Amino acid sequence: MPKKKFVYSFGAGVAEGDGTMKELLGGKGAGLHEMTKIGLPVPAGFTITTEVCDLFFKSGKKWPEGLEKEVQKHLKQLEKTTGKTLGDPRDPLLVSVRSGAPVSMPGMMETILNLGLTDASVEGLAAKTGNRRFALDAYRRFIMMYGSTAMGIEREEFDKAFDEIKAKRTRARLGIPADQKVNDTDVNEEELDELIKMFKKIYREHIKVDFPQDPWEQLKGAIDAVFNSWMADKAVTYRKVEKLVGIKGTAVNVVQMVFGNKGETSGTGVCFTRDPNSGENVFYGDYLVNAQGEDVVAGIRTPIRLAELDKRDPKVYKQLVDIRRKLEKHYRDMQDLEFTVEEGKLYMLQCRTGKRSPIAAFRIAVDMVKEGLISKEEAILRIKASDIEGIFYPMIDKSKPEELKKAFLVQGIDAVPGAATGKVVFNAKDAEEWAAKGEKVILVRKETSPEDVGGMHAAQGILTATGGKTSHAAVVARGWGKTCIVGCEKLDIDYEKGIFAVGETVIKEGDYITLDGGTGNVYKGQLKLVKPEPPKAYTTLMSWVDKIRTLKVRTNADTPYDAEKARQLGAEGIGLCRTEHMFFDSEERILAIREMIIADDLESRKKALAKLLPFQTKDFEGIFKAMDGLPVTIRLIDPPLHEFVPHDEEGQRALAKAVGVSFEKVVQRVEQLHEANPMLGHRGCRLAITYPEILDMQVTAIITAACNMTKKGIKVLPEIMIPLVIDDKELKILETRTREVADAIIAKSGIKLSYMVGTMIEVPRAALLADRIATVAEFFSFGTNDLTQMTLGLSRDDAGKFLPDYVDEKKAGVFKADPFQSLDQDGVGMLIRMGIEKGRSVRPKLKVGICGEHGGDPASVKFCHRVGMNYVSSSPFRVPISRLAAAQAVVEETASAKKPGKNRGRPAKKASAVAPKKTSTRGRKPASAVRAVSASSAASAAPKRRGRPLGSKNKNK
Ligand code: PEP
Ligand code: MG
Repeated sequence: MPKKKFVYSFGAGVAEGDGTMKELLGGKGAGLHEMTKIGLPVPAGFTITTEVCDLFFKSGKKWPEGLEKEVQKHLKQLEKTTGKTLGDPRDPLLVSVRSGAPVSMPGMMETILNLGLTDASVEGLAAKTGNRRFALDAYRRFIMMYGSTAMGIEREEFDKAFDEIKAKRTRARLGIPADQKVNDTDVNEEELDELIKMFKKIYREHIKVDFPQDPWEQLKGAIDAVFNSWMADKAVTYRKVEKLVGIKGTAVNVVQMVFGNKGETSGTGVCFTRDPNSGENVFYGDYLVNAQGEDVVAGIRTPIRLAELDKRDPKVYKQLVDIRRKLEKHYRDMQDLEFTVEEGKLYMLQCRTGKRSPIAAFRIAVDMVKEGLISKEEAILRIKASDIEGIFYPMIDKSKPEELKKAFLVQGIDAVPGAATGKVVFNAKDAEEWAAKGEKVILVRKETSPEDVGGMHAAQGILTATGGKTSHAAVVARGWGKTCIVGCEKLDIDYEKGIFAVGETVIKEGDYITLDGGTGNVYKGQLKLVKPEPPKAYTTLMSWVDKIRTLKVRTNADTPYDAEKARQLGAEGIGLCRTEHMFFDSEERILAIREMIIADDLESRKKALAKLLPFQTKDFEGIFKAMDGLPVTIRLIDPPLHEFVPHDEEGQRALAKAVGVSFEKVVQRVEQLHEANPMLGHRGCRLAITYPEILDMQVTAIITAACNMTKKGIKVLPEIMIPLVIDDKELKILETRTREVADAIIAKSGIKLSYMVGTMIEVPRAALLADRIATVAEFFSFGTNDLTQMTLGLSRDDAGKFLPDYVDEKKAGVFKADPFQSLDQDGVGMLIRMGIEKGRSVRPKLKVGICGEHGGDPASVKFCHRVGMNYVSSSPFRVPISRLAAAQAVVEETASAKKPGKNRGRPAKKASAVAPKKTSTRGRKPASAVRAVSASSAASAAPKRRGRPLGSKNKNK
């Protein structure tokens, strides 16, 4: 096997790599090679590949064999190109050593500048530049960066020493008053000499050896430091938050130093080829005169606007403007550039795809299509799910990162994105009461239960100490588009005292906190939030999305309000209406269902059910109306009955009184209903096998509502869904009964109504026997919350406790993502494929969808497209995300079909079928509003209970 090439050189117009080699050379490296190739002024250097980083960690942080030799060879070449030698005491070559992963991770990894300076070479640099102060300043920066980055000395140690010099010497020498700041530039040569001595002393004290005077040793240390920064906590966390998986590591770029701090004709800048906030097609950036790059990044000094550079140095500015044009044309995307001007000469130091705000992402993509730079398909691929989230949800104003850092409190699991700020309350009742008085509150709970929904609805955001992404809090909040952080295990909540603690920090009821649901970060205090307005470009781009996708997108909605909201967001029907949610909407309803549950005999059960019938009928009417002309899948009751009854004495006594039975009887019934493992117990269709009268009532409500609405001219397409089946026989019993009840009502009503009867596939056995089940079922909907739970044998409610370890690449790293959030395509996915194939083998036109939480996860949606589902169903606020992912699936499929040898699977719809200027006719209103329906009444309706709250076993109920 030929030896792997570890190092790639660039310089003097020649580059061994190019812009396509991002994976291997990292974004920065690939950019430097490409810019060199297309003739831009780039300082010379070389890139050590990301593969080396991978090997470095695999071999216990050792350099792979041959690397040292290769680096030496490329260093020689760099010395030849620049005409300088590393460490030369007369005129040293100085280099920067920078990280650069294939995906940009701003500020997450390390950089070391001015490497090659030693006690001897610093004097060479001083002599050569005729500026000893400059040389000393470069040296002190290097010692500090090397000491902190490569050797792990706290940066504060160096800062303290610098402050001391400034306070004791510079201030006195210049007579700067105590209330005025001493600038770094005020420090003179002697003081810098003194400072360097202090820095070297700090180094010796910590590392127990002198600061290295051998440049090769410095270089090796710096390369190691960059590799190590790949696994630093902040970098690992960033990758986790950004869901960056499968990246080998960071590349290391060793580049000749150019200096922006050589006086007034020098400087350094950062710019974007378009405005990264608004997306407007203007040149945007900052320039700092007489400064090194780190000064810009650190925000120590205030830069000037890029446009002002035109006045200071029109030649350089014009050159930059030309480069901007050239690079945008070349890369066909907005670029983020770093440059340095050394005594009037421009050098490009970085060029990478620029990070942008969600609004800018839409605007840039659409503008670039209009400018003919990219196709509509490319525009669609450039939008991320988080861009859509950013369009709808408020966000924390991140313009002052230092403030954010100071306010950081703790991190939990990012369940629902967006941001919320408010006063801490610890129970749902307070949340409602405080909110009613006009307070903004954050509900902080160990966990939530359906009893809390009123308070959850009233709160700006929800924070829980336990639970995962499919926990009750997460599912409910997601449905409302409400910021939610769950599983924040470091929260020590004391309800009695009305406080929570994170380590030493104590937050009291009424104190402000701010949640960032996108990262899971919790902050102290009331941070500023910004609310982006959906740009026109959003509507334009989503119209292209709808034109191209083949997968339909429905929604999971249980109320007419949610159904309407989802329709505005582009839902094409309801994929899951969880009927049990309706039982909690008022005191009367909860009482009726409880009466039904504690009933001894059929007659009294029927009597209680009769009370529920009008409520359900009315709800279904509202939903059918909201979804006029679109299919509505209604699932029959699913959770185990014990979840509906009170478990505390107070609640049980109240129930006994309300229903007119003895307290003992209620207790006895609750005990009877107790199950050791209710998730695998008497739930789903099993309830209807035991109590067919529940099915009768629900089917009656559905079909009566359908008939009533049909009579009013509404087009109703009901799909009755039977949950949790394991067998065709079981389904047949319930299907027959469903049809008997439904057909009798239809016959009596005198109208024509067609409806479908289908099932959920959420038990592995159902997927295995899908061909038998499809002889009865007219449609399948994969309930992947339960299917994941039962296939993996992991509790969907408890897995939050240990799953993070399974996903953490520093720990087990078994999963790339939480399987309850992003479908386990290997395992659960195999069952889904099999289920679809088997089902369609007996019923070729079998309609298939998904209604687990995965229907709103982009990677899972793409999988659903590939396996030939008809639709996905997601919570209302994720509908646009599912639409986008469905379109991206088509574009990706078309691209991969074009690759030789990849033309497998079903034929892709032609991507070019996107119509040029058509915009969607459906409403695209911002999803800021949350439902204002009777959620608040639910909290008071459901008495407090002991033990596992409703929903903690089956949180989506
Ligand atoms: C599922 O199991 O995927 C599902 C949609 O049903 P629920 O979440 O209500 O159990
Ligand atoms: Mg289920």
